Amino acid sequence: MVKVKAFGAKSASSPLSALEIDRRVPNPEDVQIEILYCGVCHSDLHTARNEWKNTQYPSVPGHEIVGRVTAIGNKVTKFKVGDLAGVGCFVDSCGHCGSCKEHEEQYCENGWTGTYNGPAFGGENTYGGYSKSIVVKESFVLKISHSEKELPSVAPLLCAGITLYSPLKKWKVGSGKKVGIVGLGGLGHMGVKIANAMGAHVVLFTTSKNKIQDGLKLGAKEVCISTDETQMAKYQNQLDFIVNTVASRHKLDAYLNLLKKDSTMTLVGAPADPHPSIEVFSLIFKRRHLAGSLVGGIKETQEMLDFCAKHKLVSDIEIIKMDYINEAYERILKSDVKYRFVIDMLSLS
Ligand code: NAP
Ligand code: ZN
Repeated sequence: MVKVKAFGAKSASSPLSALEIDRRVPNPEDVQIEILYCGVCHSDLHTARNEWKNTQYPSVPGHEIVGRVTAIGNKVTKFKVGDLAGVGCFVDSCGHCGSCKEHEEQYCENGWTGTYNGPAFGGENTYGGYSKSIVVKESFVLKISHSEKELPSVAPLLCAGITLYSPLKKWKVGSGKKVGIVGLGGLGHMGVKIANAMGAHVVLFTTSKNKIQDGLKLGAKEVCISTDETQMAKYQNQLDFIVNTVASRHKLDAYLNLLKKDSTMTLVGAPADPHPSIEVFSLIFKRRHLAGSLVGGIKETQEMLDFCAKHKLVSDIEIIKMDYINEAYERILKSDVKYRFVIDMLSLS
């Protein structure tokens, strides 16, 4: 084991602070990465503060990791020392269940291991990207084909990018489809960009009047202020698909009623408190569907990174130093970030 500098929470109520963690020496199939930048996802905040009631402490969040390979095990074939590399939301899975065989490791039936907060079904803790380095099995490491100067804005693709790409692809978004993205935060702004690049007509639903111009610049064709009932009424029965990224409890019916017959709203936002119960008629009358989606598999994450490189898509970011993280969390809660904080890991010394 090697001691590595990190930043994390020691309890649900303590601010994040400097600490030291152990990382393994690379096994034959491992890649060791010096972390250069790490995006700040709202899930980091949910976890650091134990909002999902499953946090193991100390908690070192961060699952939008980009950096440079510093060592490889002797069975590694896809990476060499000096390469750029990325790590997303998980670092292991069983490898043999139905989901893993279908390259959907995030739905592993035997144990998906998060990049932080350990295996989904209990077990030893894992530590994320708010740290100087990480060691990950080669098969869970992503190749980055963007240019090196884009690296900080590529980091958020590893979670925000794939979490939107995967449902947009699954529900066949493309030309001729009117797609709603609910919430213009880290996830939502990537949703607007990716759905637009897929050829869809994107309608952004936001609670923030000051985001209208940004929404249009990012690729939305229309922006609707979701708290304005008159504006919402205009979209009744109009949308082919909706992705809802909102991080807080809210009433879902207002959005369900915007769907055409047989269409789906997929939830990716994961608030700590349950949404209020839905009116059954919001689903029955137009045979609508309500679904959920969790990040995306490794193969699909690589496909997303390559899609984004081809379409010149990166995240809109604000670079911060590691010791700004507690303030950054407060600003995320006020929707005061355009549109993702990314930590410059050189600032952790
Ligand atoms: P974020 O940057 O904080 O964005 C959330 C957006 O939701 C805000 O910018 C805001 O957009 C909107 N919002 C917040 N409170 C609202 C309210 N009360 N009513 C309506 N809209 C509200 O968060 P994020 O990093 O994008 O993450 C979003 C959620 O997805 C989090 O819960 C996170 O844990 C979850 N997540 C899920 C997955 C997955 O695999 N399913 C992956 C990553 C993250 P407007 O200002 O535009 O209204
Ligand atoms: Zn995330």
